Amino acid sequence: MTAGAAITLASELATRWEARAAEHDRIGGFPEDDMADLRRCGLLGLLVPRSLGGMGAGFEEYVEVAMVLARGSGASALLFNMHASVTGALAGVPDELARALGVAEWFFEARDDVLRRAGQGAMYGVAISERGAGSRLSAVQTTYAREDGGYRVRGYKSTCSGAGHLDGYLVAARADDDPGGPTRISYFLVPAEAIGAVDHTWNPIGMRATASNGFAIDARVDETTMLGVEGVAVLLAETMPEWLVASYAAVYVGVAQAALAAAVDHARTTVVREPSAGGPPREVTLGASPWVRQRIGRADAQVEAARLAVVEAGRRVDARPGEPDTARAVYRAKLLAGDATFDVAASLTEACGLGALTRGLPLERLLRDARSGAVMPPSSDIAANVLGAAALGMDTGMELGARPW
Ligand SMILES: Cc1cc2nc3c(=O)[nH]c(=O)nc-3n(C[C@H](O)[C@H](O)[C@H](O)COP(=O)(O)OP(=O)(O)OC[C@H]3O[C@@H](n4cnc5c(N)ncnc54)[C@H](O)[C@@H]3O)c2cc1C
Repeated sequence: MTAGAAITLASELATRWEARAAEHDRIGGFPEDDMADLRRCGLLGLLVPRSLGGMGAGFEEYVEVAMVLARGSGASALLFNMHASVTGALAGVPDELARALGVAEWFFEARDDVLRRAGQGAMYGVAISERGAGSRLSAVQTTYAREDGGYRVRGYKSTCSGAGHLDGYLVAARADDDPGGPTRISYFLVPAEAIGAVDHTWNPIGMRATASNGFAIDARVDETTMLGVEGVAVLLAETMPEWLVASYAAVYVGVAQAALAAAVDHARTTVVREPSAGGPPREVTLGASPWVRQRIGRADAQVEAARLAVVEAGRRVDARPGEPDTARAVYRAKLLAGDATFDVAASLTEACGLGALTRGLPLERLLRDARSGAVMPPSSDIAANVLGAAALGMDTGMELGARPW
């Protein structure tokens, strides 16, 4: 399958998702039908190498697909993003790098099995966040310890998109004899049956249909569920932040594009009365007002700038993964996308008035969805701090707010 074919598939899905988005948002549950679409058309294998039955896409192609999907439903695209973070990172770490990190030979077989299953329709999620730690890997309190040739993983994950509906979960945990700090945080891909009961506490203002509920875990898992080597989680996040950063950025650019399209549609079709000197009021479309046009023009420029930053980050990830300049491009993309999405949605809803701010209308949902962009990790403030420190040549070490992970 070519890049163009994956984007065509994504466009078809986005059209279907858009028609269901208002109802999914109202219910705030897991969008089973949208995810069934992904399974059916093979997009869960987008980042899986062709040799393992997938589409063999790289990061740039992923961001293009994610933007298209998010134009249909930000929440469903965010669920896809979590799955892509797992499969993309696994497929994207070169074998030589994995060997240099010291992985056991069985790792390659276990990794290929995870990827092969994604190509066949298995869906994965990410369970890093905990209360008080957010997504800061170095602060997680979930632990693991050796048990019967495998590991016991114990803890509580507060926010996991798709919790209870997926085939496997990327769980971040620290060695139970670790006093703290970033060096012994590891990733496990735990099977669905290892997670405990899901707490149905998810009830946010936006991205409601991600069903990002919490769950407890207290399970023995096989040795082969540890991904890579022990203690690699923070190092990977620092050197290759793309799968934790830029993958969201693409989703939020798609949300911004959808907000712009909805505002243009509203401004074209809404008729307002304009006073005219001496005669009866004239009827004009909202888009005839220069102040509405200016907001749409600014939004157009902001959305396109964020899109270009995300695509450029994707291009660099494919060409030069692991390089400091690539990481900076990734942080820039996340910062620009997170901020632009909410700025654009807020400005356009102001331009469109109650015709956009009424429950059930697309712009009202998109405004709520857009709010999470700057909050998702690393938040805009944290991304800006990392970029500022890099520009200043500062080593901020463990200073508060300087370590995204
Ligand atoms: C729609 C949605 C889906 C999500 N899905 C997942 C998922 O699938 N898996 C998962 O693991 N997590 C998920 N999350 C959780 C997300 O990672 C957290 O919301 C995020 O890490 C922030 O954590 P918090 O909300 O608990 O904020 P807190 O940790 O309470 O922090 C509050 C604010 O302060 C900022 N902050 C905190 N500490 C610092 C600091 N030291 N310096 C500067 N700023 C700081 C935070 O960035 C945040 O903006 C999801 C969140 C959303 C909104």
